[in-house]
Amino acid sequence: MGKVYLTGAGPGDIELLTVKALRVVQEADVIIYDRLANPDILKEAKDGCEFVYVGKEDSQHTLPQEEINEVIYQNALKYDNVVRLKGGDPFVFGRGGEEGIYLYERNIKFEFIPGITSAIAVPEYAGIPVTHRGITVSFRVVTGHESKNKEHSQITWENFKSDDTIIFLMGLHRLKHISKKLMDIGKSKDYPVAVISRGTTKDEQTVIGTLENIWEKAKDLPTPALIIVGKVVNLREQLNWFQKE
Ligand code: SAH
Repeated sequence: MGKVYLTGAGPGDIELLTVKALRVVQEADVIIYDRLANPDILKEAKDGCEFVYVGKEDSQHTLPQEEINEVIYQNALKYDNVVRLKGGDPFVFGRGGEEGIYLYERNIKFEFIPGITSAIAVPEYAGIPVTHRGITVSFRVVTGHESKNKEHSQITWENFKSDDTIIFLMGLHRLKHISKKLMDIGKSKDYPVAVISRGTTKDEQTVIGTLENIWEKAKDLPTPALIIVGKVVNLREQLNWFQKE
């Protein structure tokens, strides 16, 4: 019986892979990977390593989570070193916990390898710090994709009244709704928002706007994309570095 490494692949730029993740990828007998994990990472695997794609679109999962769990488990019965490679960090809307519990219940050994999450790194490449002294004392990372079978919103919008930075993952298709909700709780229509698409990669695009106009400006950007709302967005004017290179 093998061991499963539930591994964060980082946000896109292959150099943001951790040294530990690189080591387990190089030692893997099988790599089970997502759409969001940079496929160039697979080139680091040894000869004969097997690759299993269980890609996920933002909201439609190619394989239901239950099946992904089973694929990981079956591979752990077959191989010594199983790497489950996931975009960003396994615990930030990555369902890493669910996969770990599934393995725990079946007596399979596992390890988590944290990854650099897109929630922080993607704004960072766009020159937007998630916290900044004198501007914001905290940041929140929120899912923009709420479960469709819930009648009521799971998000407590009233929580967002302060000037905390808010980062929405999986929210591009809900951008209009999100902006409206934030204006409904009293944020000004001029409040700064950025949408960053394919962050940390050569295809990165960043669009800056306000709660009132961001939807119109950013709605056609390609995914994956995240939304960052807060006064820190204004710092991009001075801190943008990646797209200047
Ligand atoms: N575990 C991942 C997040 C999974 S949810 C992490 O820690 O990064 C998937 C969402 O992450 C996408 O819908 C998008 O909002 C965001 N995302 C991931 N990679 C991104 C990238 N390179 N650029 C912009 N957003 C990204």
